[in-house]
Amino acid sequence: MNDGQLSYPPTPHGFATRAIHVGGEPDPASGAVAPPIVTSSTFAHHELGVKPPYSYSRSQNPTRDRLEQCLVSLEGGVGACCFASGVAAVHAVASLCKAGDHVIAPRDIYGGTYRLFEQVMKPLGIEFSYVDMIGEAGPANIAAAIRPHTRLVHTETPSNPTMRLTDLAAVGQLCRERGLISSCDNTFLSPYFQSPLEWGMNISIHSTTKFLNGHSDGTGGAVICARPEHHERINLIQRAVGAVLSPFDCWLVLRGVKTLAVRMQQHERNGRAVAAFLAAHPRVGGMGRAVHYPGLQGHPQHQLAQRQQRGFGSLISFETGSLENAKRFFAGLKMAVLGESLGAVETLVNYPATMSHGALGVEGRAAAGITDGMVRLSVGIEDVDDIVADLDQALAGV
Ligand SMILES: *Cc1c(COP(=O)(O)O)cnc(C)c1O
Repeated sequence: MNDGQLSYPPTPHGFATRAIHVGGEPDPASGAVAPPIVTSSTFAHHELGVKPPYSYSRSQNPTRDRLEQCLVSLEGGVGACCFASGVAAVHAVASLCKAGDHVIAPRDIYGGTYRLFEQVMKPLGIEFSYVDMIGEAGPANIAAAIRPHTRLVHTETPSNPTMRLTDLAAVGQLCRERGLISSCDNTFLSPYFQSPLEWGMNISIHSTTKFLNGHSDGTGGAVICARPEHHERINLIQRAVGAVLSPFDCWLVLRGVKTLAVRMQQHERNGRAVAAFLAAHPRVGGMGRAVHYPGLQGHPQHQLAQRQQRGFGSLISFETGSLENAKRFFAGLKMAVLGESLGAVETLVNYPATMSHGALGVEGRAAAGITDGMVRLSVGIEDVDDIVADLDQALAGV
């Protein structure tokens, strides 16, 4: 469908409509309203020498095509490529670099991305610098880290798990002026709340495992590019490396994305309520323990969040004071699930120091502001009273 054709027709429709209809067109052959899961690895050629639109599923698959069309319509840009995981998507973007190139990445980077950069890409001869990209000083810190061979500036905003913001417009402009590729991991907010390409970033990246799928039942990733030359290269890497998203997983994400707008609205309503509850709780905000949520008035980038994001999302981190307190809190939860991941219908809690950010090591975590008492919440879309009640009784032991 999009073989060699890089841009999808613009649609006048709103976000929720596009999420349902772009890539969701009834199957032309059968009229099926739910998109078919095309599991075929290979496709019939009608005539030798005439390339059909689909030939081999690693290169092109009709179900994947539908998802890629949907995602590009939600993020903007010229094309999307879906991968078997979020880190495979980040790997594809980092593969725009070659040996001798230099990448600037955030100091409080997602642990899995750090491991990919340090243990896989660095031994191939790509250099990495980790800088503080947060707030007003962020762009100047990035500028100071630029070297003659810098090629890519990779950002994550809000940051994980400290929920600090990077100014995408400023970083996008800096990269444009200095001829650098700019990428943003947009996993934490989804395209419903943040559009990095509209702020001048070149590439938006997702772990579709999180909000896009939204139901904790499929691993996946996506890269959406603003520029045809980047999309063509990512598309080549997708075919050549072969870390593609399976047709069934594409279908799960397509299905999840149909409810993205309503889920994100509820996630954020619950997120705001839980952040306010924690900020006022006698065992948390009431005793001076930090609550990190961009929607709180006192958040250092609250104004940037209002400008750059269309909502504050549902990720919150807070201080319990110690590993012992965090343990007691986790042990006390009756509904929220302690586990890796985020962005799903159920409320998930995480202990960054040993779970999502274990790979950073003691010094890396200290530099990134990740303490032994820090807990991260991904507020789900259950009844908010039930979420608050669960947290409240678990906090009694903290
Ligand atoms: C989960 C996550 C990833 C990695 O995605 P996987 O699907 O687990 O490979 C990358 N970035 C962020 C911000 C994430 O939360």
